[in-house]
Order: sequence, then structure tokens, then C-alpha cells
Amino acid sequence: MSKGAATIVLDRDGVINHDSDNYVKNEDEWIPITGSMDAIAKLHQKEYQVIVATNQSGLARGYFDEVALAAIHQKLNLMAEEAGGLVSAIFYCPHLPDANCQCRKPKTGLLKQAENELGISLANSYLIGDSLKDLQAAVAFQMKPVLVRTGKGRDTELSLKGRLKVETPVFDNLEAAADWVLAE
Ligand SMILES: [Mg+2]
Ligand SMILES: [Zn+2]
Repeated sequence: MSKGAATIVLDRDGVINHDSDNYVKNEDEWIPITGSMDAIAKLHQKEYQVIVATNQSGLARGYFDEVALAAIHQKLNLMAEEAGGLVSAIFYCPHLPDANCQCRKPKTGLLKQAENELGISLANSYLIGDSLKDLQAAVAFQMKPVLVRTGKGRDTELSLKGRLKVETPVFDNLEAAADWVLAE
């Protein structure tokens, strides 16, 4: 693959790290799912630009602040680099679900922001998520949705039937999804 040819967008909670009903509020609560760091490393080493797009309404709810979120993302970045990978950018929505912002998935503002800031097109790129919101954002942005069964993924898979226009491959976890993407 030629340089800069492909970007892959990952949801964070439930895809890269274990999700929590109580929100991931600090770096100690941010625990990677087995294999996810290796998956990011493999993608990076095969010349994929890996970026993250994540809803973080816990900010608006006051469960954590920007400083804590930055520390969480520093941990994510460091662990990815220790595994031999690279996360090029992390885009997050800080708003409440009812704020009617343009960035909270299933809206596509985070994806548009990524395109603008990185000077790339995400059309036909993969977006890997565990929630219906992720898959809907991907489809709305002409991206290819991929579902993982980690996080909310099993529930999403059960409720998915007939709700997406685009065929959605489903994998047990990010590592399996990444292996499939790399074999495509
Ligand atoms: Mg998620
Ligand atoms: Zn937002």
C-alpha cells in the first residue's frame, strides 16, 4: 500500500479499551482489551493511519475534565507506541446526548473534523465500533462499518438486523477485525 493511502477510524470505549457503565474517568480506569494494542501496531506497520473518534459525554456530565481525558489519551498513545503502533489523532465529542451538537456520533462532525485537520478523505475507509451509533456514523459518512463484539458489541449485533443499509462484518474483537482489514 502506498504511503498515506488509508486511514482507519476506531471508536475508543468497548473497542480499544474495556467500557464501563460508570464511565472511564481516569487513566487507571482505562484498561486496554487484550490484543487491541497489537491490532493498532499491526495496522500502523501496514501503513494504515490509525485515528480515534469517541463520544465523551462524561466531560459535559462533570465526571472527568479535559486534564483527566488528556492523561487517559496519553496512556493510550504510550501503550500503542510501546506495542509498536501509533495513534495519529484522537477526536472526541464532549457534549451531552441532548445538546444537539454536530459531533456526537451518530452525527459525523468528528469525522469531518478529522478530514479537515489531517487533510485526508475518509470516504470508503473502515470505521470499527461496538455501538449502533458508530456504524450509523460510518454509513452516513460513506465509510465502511465494522462491528466488534467487545463492549456493547454483542447487544448491538443482536439489535442490528435490518437496521443498517450497508452490510456490516462482525468480529470478536479489534484484533480479529484488524486482521480481516489487513487481509482485504
Ligand atoms: Mg464504544
Ligand atoms: Zn459534540
